[in-house]
Amino acid sequence: MKEKPSESVLGTNLLHAKSHNRRAILDAVRRSAGLSRADITRITHLSAQAVSNLVAELEEAGLLLAGEPVRQKRGQPARPYRLNPEGGFAIGFQLSGTQMDAVLVDLLGEERARSSLQINHPDPEKTVDLLVAASRDIIIKSGLDPDRNIGIGIAMPGPVGIAGPTGIAPGWENFDLASAMTAKAGCPVFVENDADAAAISEKLYGTARELDNFVYIFIGHGLGAGLFLDGRIVRGAQGAAGEIGHIPIMVNGRKCGCGRQGCLERYVSLLALYDEFDAAHRDDLVLDHNLTRLSALSPDDAPVRHWIDQAALHLTTTFQIISSMLNPQAIILGGLLPEPILTALWQKVTKLQDVDGPTPTGAHLPVHIGDASTYSAARGAAALPIYQEMIPDFQNMLKVRD
Ligand SMILES: [Zn+2]
Repeated sequence: MKEKPSESVLGTNLLHAKSHNRRAILDAVRRSAGLSRADITRITHLSAQAVSNLVAELEEAGLLLAGEPVRQKRGQPARPYRLNPEGGFAIGFQLSGTQMDAVLVDLLGEERARSSLQINHPDPEKTVDLLVAASRDIIIKSGLDPDRNIGIGIAMPGPVGIAGPTGIAPGWENFDLASAMTAKAGCPVFVENDADAAAISEKLYGTARELDNFVYIFIGHGLGAGLFLDGRIVRGAQGAAGEIGHIPIMVNGRKCGCGRQGCLERYVSLLALYDEFDAAHRDDLVLDHNLTRLSALSPDDAPVRHWIDQAALHLTTTFQIISSMLNPQAIILGGLLPEPILTALWQKVTKLQDVDGPTPTGAHLPVHIGDASTYSAARGAAALPIYQEMIPDFQNMLKVRD
């Protein structure tokens, strides 16, 4: 970047819950609102004096709110503490070559604003400018105090940071988006591929809250998987673990953008669904970046039904492979499909699994429906800076390399 790093253009980030102990307290209160100082002391194993000091600090910083003192069975009345939803917020982006969707969520993960911008395969530098401008706009839209910005998360088609057929545009191969963005935005920035971001969102807010081993299948314009195994995201040697879209599944099958034929995502993706329509309809769907035309489709439309039947067949085989290789507790199906179509696909997959019987590992592999929202990856991206501030072992979960 030519410009010198700015102090901060998107908030002063006065939160800085950087110490492990502060995070431990925030995490305890996040898990159960209404804890007293004595409860926090018991849960965190910190000294009563340390808890007293840190709680006062966090209250002063606007991260914790104290309720009216509650009378105890014995001893002094104790104040219950909870997170201040407006104590901080984060912005999550979902970036593709043609679309930049953003959500702004508060400290509790509640959405406070969203925005959407069409783009045309911008180069990396231009994209950074667009992201910074969009961040400013969505903060204004939310009406929240810009100084309360904790950070920015960006989800993009993976693999992130290496050359690949699912990249946004030429010129992105070796671009370090996180560093460039941090320099311009002046706040912490996380970059994840969309499948991993959506998987993290499910782990933190969704159906995977209690799971330590699951695979998230992200059906977007292409197809990817987020592998959350043994309590952490698995990235692989080049960050491409879970790039299942280009597994060859059909000999002499449909031509793929990667130059080969019969790749899985040529059958299981939005673009594969669009291919079921005649040329005019297909173009309408492809060019409709807001996905409003997609949302209007019904699983009972003949082309959609045909796609579901095909996709379910290929997914069932894929799930058997995943089950044998990784032995997850569950598979979560999500991405950009509208909820009725995702549900119909899930029903079909479940039916096929019943026909196939148990997997070689014994039990039936449960398949769940994840957050069916066009903003699922953006929400996951927004969770990254927030949980970085609040969960003591979050880095471990992400296993980010320094
Ligand atoms: Zn391919």
